[in-house]
Amino acid sequence: MLITKPHAALLASPGMGHLIPMVELGKRLLTLHGFDVSIFVVTTDSSTTRSQILQQTSNQSSLNVVMLPPVDVSSKLGPNPPLEVGIHLAMAESLPLLRSAILSMKVVPTVLIIDLFGILVLPMSRDLGMLNYVFMTSNAWFTATITYAPVIDKDMEDRHVNNREPLFIPGCKPVQYEDTLEPFVLRGQPMYEGFIKATKDIISVDGILINTWHDLEPTTIKALRDSEHLGWISKGPVYPVGPLVRTVTPRSGTEHGHGAEVKVDEVLRWLDGQPTESVIYVSFGSGGTLSAEQITELAWALELSRQRFVWVVRPPNGSASGTFFDVANGGDGTPGYLPEGFVKRTHNVGLVVPMWAPQAEILAHPSTGGFITHCGWNSTLESIINGVPMVAWPLYAEQKMNAAMLAEELGVAVRAKGTEGVVGREQILKLVRRIMVEKEGKAMREKVKELKRSGDKALSNVGSSYNSLSQATKDLENYLLEKSRGASA
Ligand code: UDP
Repeated sequence: MLITKPHAALLASPGMGHLIPMVELGKRLLTLHGFDVSIFVVTTDSSTTRSQILQQTSNQSSLNVVMLPPVDVSSKLGPNPPLEVGIHLAMAESLPLLRSAILSMKVVPTVLIIDLFGILVLPMSRDLGMLNYVFMTSNAWFTATITYAPVIDKDMEDRHVNNREPLFIPGCKPVQYEDTLEPFVLRGQPMYEGFIKATKDIISVDGILINTWHDLEPTTIKALRDSEHLGWISKGPVYPVGPLVRTVTPRSGTEHGHGAEVKVDEVLRWLDGQPTESVIYVSFGSGGTLSAEQITELAWALELSRQRFVWVVRPPNGSASGTFFDVANGGDGTPGYLPEGFVKRTHNVGLVVPMWAPQAEILAHPSTGGFITHCGWNSTLESIINGVPMVAWPLYAEQKMNAAMLAEELGVAVRAKGTEGVVGREQILKLVRRIMVEKEGKAMREKVKELKRSGDKALSNVGSSYNSLSQATKDLENYLLEKSRGASA
């Protein structure tokens, strides 16, 4: 049988930050590159926010969404488990469910596209005769850094971890010790061994897709493409395919999430009444939480700044990624942890949104002029693609590297210092003024708008990311053709 139309199976690990870009990749493969697409979603709960995004997606396109039954990993995790451990466990528990879902399809898909946490599915996909690609939902610099990890020798390790010198990665910007990834400082521990195995597995796949674009990271992409410099040779090509961010749907309806109901219209209508680029949006991603003391400092800074704001607030939590796993379930939406009278005193200039807000719509709104962000890569791209300068306030994962890239390399953010402890109100106040009021902020806005144009161009049908995904498609089609020739020979 001659099959020339490729079918991509996309596997999204738990977390909105993985699901959202995976859905966007699926949409592009389906609508622009002639793929059949099925997206398999691993869950640990029944999130209404997630269901809504997926519902919208299947209404808008013929993308086949397969929700795998939720897996309960909570009883297997100790107190305050590292985020990665929980996701890894959920993926492992979902493996048999994925296998039977794939086997129940009429024809096994051509290619399985996983995110970083899907690595453990690779043996199964090979077993079923599928090609496998990894979609890095972060940037090229992060990809280069983690794939360089197995090459780091004892001397480099000592210099970076013990002497706190920068980690020099061939062809890339060095990683300062202060921004380094957690696994690097956990050498010798079981988590580190798992990390090294995962990074070796990444380079064994048939292709690496990255949510970035050529003009954003030209030097790093070059280094990745000549990966020999990085001490490894990729089995498959590297395809920068971004910026893939959630496209904004016409405003109406209700967004549900975290047990709180936020009227999309309410936030956007409020923004409609504000002057252009006058509002600072404050959010720490799908899972980011702050301590009680930090929330108080931030609240005072916002109030004292006299700037307009929309603030997505979550109950305080000791762990920075405190609500990553309970997108739908945590909290009652009452911001009782804010300074007394805060909402009343600021109601003319600010809007407090409990738990979850329509972020893509807010950042796309003309009244939004700044973003205090934890620098998750999706939030970063959403800000760039809407021309919004940032206060970079990294919390966990690779966010410190993202913050460094935004502030020091791209010049589109100012960076909060001391985010491991409590960032004081005076510092926050200054940072807010720097991007919203001062000349420096204006210059940053120009720069970020330039990046927006470059990102739009990359995705257009003459752009580098469009071409890159076209090339990935051609490579897959050639593979299919060869396979069918082989079968008929
Ligand atoms: N998001 C949202 N509303 C919120 C918080 C987050 O829509 O209140 C979306 C945000 O637009 C982004 C994703 O959730 O697309 C978060 O991904 P990111 O990589 O920024 O951070 P993570 O949550 O993975 O740390």
